[in-house]
Amino acid sequence: MIDKKKMVWRADLLPGKQPAPKHGPVHAVSLGQAVGESVVTQVTDPRPDAPVGEADGATEAGWHSIESFLRCPKEYQYQHVRGIISPTAATPDYFAIGQLFHIGKAGWFAARFATDEARMLSIREKMSAYAARAKLPISNEALTRAHGYFDEYVKHYRIRPKPDVLAAEYFIGPATLIKGDTFFVARTARLDDVSKYPEAGHKLAIGEAKSTSGSINDVVQQYMLHGQPLLQMALWETAPQGEAMHGPIAGVVLDVLSKGYGNKASKFGRIFIPKPQRAIEWFVKNLNTQLRAAALVEWNTDAPRNISSCTRMIGRARVECPYLKLCRWGRAGSAPYTFKDGNGLGRWLPSTSQSTPPWE
Ligand code: SF4
Repeated sequence: MIDKKKMVWRADLLPGKQPAPKHGPVHAVSLGQAVGESVVTQVTDPRPDAPVGEADGATEAGWHSIESFLRCPKEYQYQHVRGIISPTAATPDYFAIGQLFHIGKAGWFAARFATDEARMLSIREKMSAYAARAKLPISNEALTRAHGYFDEYVKHYRIRPKPDVLAAEYFIGPATLIKGDTFFVARTARLDDVSKYPEAGHKLAIGEAKSTSGSINDVVQQYMLHGQPLLQMALWETAPQGEAMHGPIAGVVLDVLSKGYGNKASKFGRIFIPKPQRAIEWFVKNLNTQLRAAALVEWNTDAPRNISSCTRMIGRARVECPYLKLCRWGRAGSAPYTFKDGNGLGRWLPSTSQSTPPWE
């Protein structure tokens, strides 16, 4: 969290830092356990569980906190500077399934792919507990489907070569992307996992889980050159919890679930994207410029609107920007919105630092 007036990093307000992962020798042994007609390679790893952090979404200064500025500075101002939200009655199923699947995957990685009944039950219970405490209700349908996808994922990967897991839900940063840079532009990231992946030639790579109702290839095309993995790889180079502690990474492994539905079975793919050093170099320079520009946006700033972003693709669906009604109708469209503290926009009172109406 940034205190812009003092331009200092409020590290004390950031999500908890993770303990340093412990290294250990690799012990992957084939037991040849039969499941149906397949012969299963079961990892029996005597090491304790890999360190696992909180799988509770985006970090305070992660990619999602700047992504909206790149899309539309007005959207960033509404969301991050004025703190306007559009309350919804429930978490959309597609979003809830993605979150719950992340939790299941993190638990299984941390358990170093154990598949005993007690462990599977415990991971499923963690998914259920997350659904029960979610701020916006998660439907039973979403939880049931997420459990089903997790079971399919385990069934698929238990018979395949496993990554050697260093940590799951691993928090890195805050760190600046350029040495000696002003700390208010520092960033953080929560990495789904950091592992030595067979798909990366058994080199260390960042694992990034993605669920889609589209194809695996669509996801690969989307993330081949994308700010989220580029930021993760750049931050790994500079954050004290990254390269300095564990050595360089070879790239990112996209761990994609293409969700089945009804009679359609799910598909899975782990695709290695080698670290694109050239792209990281221009990305870091570019992002630093954008972070500085974003830091100058205050309540009264006349932030530009990028009207080519008022609708956008999520998966295969075209959806509206959450602030479209405000941009279109101003005060007349403000009824569905509140500030983060729950107050409606109609209760806003002007002050010296907030003289512009919130919908303008
Ligand atoms: S509706 Fe369009 S102009 Fe308005 S905040 Fe969203 S993207 Fe920007």
